Amino acid sequence: MSLHARLAELASLGARGAGIERGLFSAPEHAARTRIAAWAREAGLAVEQDRAGNLFVRAGDPDQPPIQCGSHLDTVKEGGAYDGAYGVVGGLEALERIVRSGVALRRPIELVAWAGEEGSRFPLGTLGSSVYAGLTPLRALDALIGDDGVAFSDALHGPTGLLADVPLRDGFPALAAYVELHIEQGPVLERAGARLGIVSAIAGQRRFAVTIDGIAGHAGTLPMAGRADALCAASDLVLAVERAARNVGEAVATVGQLAVEPNQINVVPGRVTLRVDARSADEARIDAIEQRLREAAREIAAARQVRLAVDLLEKRAAVSMNARLRGIVRDVCVRLDPRAFELPSGAGHDAMCIAQVAPAAMIFVPSIGGRSHVGDERTAPEDLALGVDALVATMVMLAAAE
Ligand SMILES: [Zn+2]
Repeated sequence: MSLHARLAELASLGARGAGIERGLFSAPEHAARTRIAAWAREAGLAVEQDRAGNLFVRAGDPDQPPIQCGSHLDTVKEGGAYDGAYGVVGGLEALERIVRSGVALRRPIELVAWAGEEGSRFPLGTLGSSVYAGLTPLRALDALIGDDGVAFSDALHGPTGLLADVPLRDGFPALAAYVELHIEQGPVLERAGARLGIVSAIAGQRRFAVTIDGIAGHAGTLPMAGRADALCAASDLVLAVERAARNVGEAVATVGQLAVEPNQINVVPGRVTLRVDARSADEARIDAIEQRLREAAREIAAARQVRLAVDLLEKRAAVSMNARLRGIVRDVCVRLDPRAFELPSGAGHDAMCIAQVAPAAMIFVPSIGGRSHVGDERTAPEDLALGVDALVATMVMLAAAE
């Protein structure tokens, strides 16, 4: 079955609204795992799963650390057909091709479909890979409650949780290396006319909650002079965040969430809460944005007679991809596409967890128009095929007998 046909079949599972919805352990997500297991068995490959819901397809010695590739099958709400699914289906094709080629391997090769990368049902992103890497204890999953009120363990042991006919693996065995094939989800490769990208690092991320307290009042009777309008102060801050990221360079910062109180047309806003998300592959640039955010908050508070509090919500360090593995991936990609180049990933991926316990690298293919996490997420079929070629060549380099 072709890559294209498999992606189309997965895309039919969970089609909803303008896109696809496959929350972890939902019926469509279970159906997607069932398909991967069935395709793998048709190809004569061994299938296993673990207690976090991760699914494995193995060729070669079950007791040796494998060269592993993989990605995830869950999606965001109204997500696209390629984010995650491409790396799983592409990885399966890579295993099939390598086995069929009859090349002698000194290491086993493995595909993994990580559970719950998007964090769209249970409040933990990169769920399966963070447990695998020991960043989240397995027992911590029992405390998770889905957005539908269902507990993780009930979903795991429910009819659309673990696959009924797939052996359960104990523990989280060591990996020799991990390579993740993924769509870029941004416009950088397409704009450069490149068909392959080598990920240098996965961006660090910092999130802040900002609360601005002004004084609410009558929109008709309060003169402009002397107002303490919380939304006007917020507007200054939003623009300061944008300027900070632009000035720092090679970083992005976004205010994507903002709440106005009391949010009435005839009332001067008394309180605004907003959230800032800042990312860069270079921690020093995020530090600079944070410093500028805090300075701007003090300046705006003084100038506008409001109280402004900035709280750090979440801090995730940037993760560099393994230098040796990156070099191998770069050689492979440049041979297949002379315009291939290294770029950081602004989005998080399972590879950032696995990089804590094994050499990890990522291969990107372009996203048309840079669009992702939407129903019209697309990548050209010839680029999808080239990405699999790059994965095959990389895995053979890493696993083949010398
Ligand atoms: Zn993804």
